[in-house]
Amino acid sequence: MDFELNEDQKMIREMVRNFAEQEIRPGVQNRDEEGRFIGELLPGLAELGLLGMIVPEAYGGSGLDSVAYAVAIEELARVCPSTAVTVSVTNSVCQEPILRFGSEEQKRRFLPPLASGRQLGGFCLTEPGAGSDAGALKTRAVRDGDRYVLNGSKAWITNTHVGKTFIVLANVNPDLGHRGITAFVVTSDLPGFTFLPEEKKMGLRASITSGVAFEDCPVPVANRLGEEGMGMKIALATLDSSRIGIAAQAVGIGQGALEEAVRYGLGRETFGKPIAEHQAIQFMLAEAATNLEAARLLTYRAAAMKDEAIPGLSRASSMAKLYASEAAKAVCDSAVQIHGAYGYSREYAVERFYRDVRVTTIYEGTSEVQRMVIARSLLK
Ligand SMILES: Cc1cc2nc3c(=O)[nH]c(=O)nc-3n(C[C@H](O)[C@H](O)[C@H](O)COP(=O)(O)OP(=O)(O)OC[C@H]3O[C@@H](n4cnc5c(N)ncnc54)[C@H](O)[C@@H]3O)c2cc1C
Repeated sequence: MDFELNEDQKMIREMVRNFAEQEIRPGVQNRDEEGRFIGELLPGLAELGLLGMIVPEAYGGSGLDSVAYAVAIEELARVCPSTAVTVSVTNSVCQEPILRFGSEEQKRRFLPPLASGRQLGGFCLTEPGAGSDAGALKTRAVRDGDRYVLNGSKAWITNTHVGKTFIVLANVNPDLGHRGITAFVVTSDLPGFTFLPEEKKMGLRASITSGVAFEDCPVPVANRLGEEGMGMKIALATLDSSRIGIAAQAVGIGQGALEEAVRYGLGRETFGKPIAEHQAIQFMLAEAATNLEAARLLTYRAAAMKDEAIPGLSRASSMAKLYASEAAKAVCDSAVQIHGAYGYSREYAVERFYRDVRVTTIYEGTSEVQRMVIARSLLK
């Protein structure tokens, strides 16, 4: 058992940390305040290969392993959780399913523009009436010769408006229930594909989230991912793996908030000494650091299991996502507490982390859904 990152993974950490400090941090508060997408950062992210991390070089990606990927997402989130989610989504829920389930022709057609960062991608599973119960989705795909015609709507989709290529889950035969669900690669230039107005979110305000509507949208049969009826399997396998990225995002947010709390604790004085010298504050910091370290270990372990194809990834990634998101939420809460009134001010980064972290226990499966996945694996 080796708890050290290898040289490549260490290099990725250093590279992404430098980029985050030099390029991302200077504008992070303004972009959040103005709700302005991180578009200006995309060329730099693309140049470092961060928009196609897990795709092999043969398809234009960086060919990193999952541990390096988790480390990169963690480092982005430590400074800007909005950047982390934008990057995580195009990598893990758009490019990865194409890589895993696409034909050679589909990989050659769709991956190079995504992996190079010329395009961003997304994943359309959730609908206004189907979130945790994804199998209840209502979007229809009706076969018509060499195409399927899509009708329906999706909700809460990341990277809309700025993204071009989306994995869309639709049902080809509702009589079969979730066994009719099928996955498609759908590009936003197809007729009948519309991005709905952006959500006004509590946090991640520099990322883009909105609904998508499909109105008689013709999708070539050549864009179907896998066979008809394989969609739910593709979606669940995708989420088993992508949850590692959300766990890493949570660890990074918690780390960013903890560092702010330490810095503030050393500078702010009450009763004649820095608040960091009061035991109550020290205990909060110690608790936060310990829980974050446990979260980080679960996250890297799930990533390493994926790299080494060790069975049990579904449970391991759900545990990592559940623990890391809940731990990071508590760390951000403590960081605000340690800042006193200043933690309640938009001038301080912990206020932003506190809002940004909230969604990590909700998206890519709520904490309740993670508990269901973990319990199911114990009881089967
Ligand atoms: C910022 C943001 C970005 C997102 N990006 C994407 C994206 O790119 N693509 C995408 O497809 N989706 C995306 N989502 C959607 C997200 O994955 C869903 O919101 C999430 O899966 C929960 O679904 P829901 O909101 O419909 O909640 P619901 O399913 O309605 O759940 C409501 C509550 O009930 C609980 N609950 C539900 N069922 C059970 C049960 N059986 N037992 C116990 N408790 C239960 C839930 O845990 C939750 O607390 C995003 C959401 C947000 C907020």
